[in-house]
Amino acid sequence: PSGAHVPALVIGTGYGGAVAALRLAQAGVDVHMIEMGMAWDTPGSDGKIFCNTREPDYRSYWLRTRTKAPLNYFLGFPIDRDIPRHTGILDAEEFGGITVYQGRGVGGGSLVNGGMAVTPRRENFGAVLPSVNPDEMYNVYYPRANAELGVGVIDPAWFDSTACYQYARVGRKHAQRSGFPFVFVPDVYDWDYMKQEAAGAVPKSALAGEILYGNNHGKKSLQQTYLARARATGRVAVSPLHKVTSVAPASGGRYTVVIEQLSTTGAVTATKTVTADRVFFAAGSVGTSKLLVKLKATGALPGLNGEVGRGWGDNGNVMCGRANHMWDPTGALQSSIPCCGIDNWAAGGAFAEVAPLPTGIETYASFYLSITNNPNRAQFSWNAAAGRVDLNWQAAWKQPSITMAKTIFDKINSKEGTIYRTDLFGVYKIWGDHLTYHPLGGAVLNKATDNYGRLTAYPGLYVIDGALIPGNTSVNPFVTITALAERNIEKIIATDL
Ligand code: FAD
Repeated sequence: PSGAHVPALVIGTGYGGAVAALRLAQAGVDVHMIEMGMAWDTPGSDGKIFCNTREPDYRSYWLRTRTKAPLNYFLGFPIDRDIPRHTGILDAEEFGGITVYQGRGVGGGSLVNGGMAVTPRRENFGAVLPSVNPDEMYNVYYPRANAELGVGVIDPAWFDSTACYQYARVGRKHAQRSGFPFVFVPDVYDWDYMKQEAAGAVPKSALAGEILYGNNHGKKSLQQTYLARARATGRVAVSPLHKVTSVAPASGGRYTVVIEQLSTTGAVTATKTVTADRVFFAAGSVGTSKLLVKLKATGALPGLNGEVGRGWGDNGNVMCGRANHMWDPTGALQSSIPCCGIDNWAAGGAFAEVAPLPTGIETYASFYLSITNNPNRAQFSWNAAAGRVDLNWQAAWKQPSITMAKTIFDKINSKEGTIYRTDLFGVYKIWGDHLTYHPLGGAVLNKATDNYGRLTAYPGLYVIDGALIPGNTSVNPFVTITALAERNIEKIIATDL
């Protein structure tokens, strides 16, 4: 309620926020989590909490009247459709040069993502988080994060035989015939559950095309892991459909936090003001960066340093498809959970996930999401005239990613005698270079904050999410976000409380 006081307020319920809440609560601190998205704990009239990629409805998008599917064309036809405006689960947030996809709801990105849980190769870690000791990460915090998240790897024997990974076996064959290292990629999806889906023994999720708009079964999102354990402490409260708009110093070393309550059509139904001893910014790379940049520019937190808003990257995301020969069908049934990748990071700067195209029909297409070593970094800035935060990423800044992805796919195409698909992102458009799933940075560790996420000008304010990571993790990011949050909160609890 308005006027309340909380010892620790956490903005956002994604990976960083969930780690902070659990560890603070275990240390005896009462925590209140503020989440702008919905709780996602109540079924709709169809009995399901989440909708399917094949039938996106009001639950699919955050306050849009038309879907904005990442893969927005098929056979050259646009596939987006009208939907009612609703506080749906996936935000396709548009900046000048890039669309940034993010999860909205209790669980943040864990609700919508593919669950690929990848620890960077140790030799790449120095570039991922240069100010962090790799020994402590690889000995303590990565193992802790992987254990809490419930990370597991597909049974290789099942992979070799199940129809739903035909597409991935084609991906493996083509990678290996061109001499690229092929790797299995761990995931938080329950692999035993998926086997039972394939056997027809349980309700289907991964095998029914569920992904992007939530999984009704099988996937261990933060709701099942960190957040469940946090709630079980009895010290963590969560307020969904509440959005933090301001944090400013109050008397006694406390902070005043202004929060808007939202309706499911996005209207502000109430504005509340609470005080907190400590505030953890865990609104995601974009959410945290936008808040900090606005609060610095508008005078609420003028002492934030000049690094705030800088160092934002897209993890080098770029997508593409290849058209296979008729003797290389990829299967009408495709598990929506990716399980393998092509690692050409060292030689070509690209790590490509062999991704599903769960359309339900045979497409003879191989589809890939590449993570590349794109060096471009963008900056958030306050646009006073428009009253919003802008990001100066340029569409052309994806070119290095395309060049790096081509080190893999030009070679495979030449070896296989195949071509790129030109019908998945527009008419005669090969590259999905307009988007990212992996926003990182904007409040970079040891630059905008100290080496543990403290906003040192304001004792008691912390950043604890993907905003800390300077733009690239060389693989999918959430394990690194989780492990870094584990490292930082341990230090904060030990020294600041
Ligand atoms: P988030 O998880 O984004 O959580 C931030 C939360 O804060 C959100 O719930 C948001 O609604 C809330 N919030 C924002 N602003 C406010 C505010 N002002 N007030 C209150 N609440 C606010 N990563 C992987 O590692 N593997 C994958 O397979 C993978 N697949 C992906 C697929 C898709 C489609 C997408 C979109 C992402 C994927 N990712 C994947 C990326 C991963 O989900 C993110 O990197 C991760 O969720 C970021 O964690 P975070 O804690 O920084 O923030």
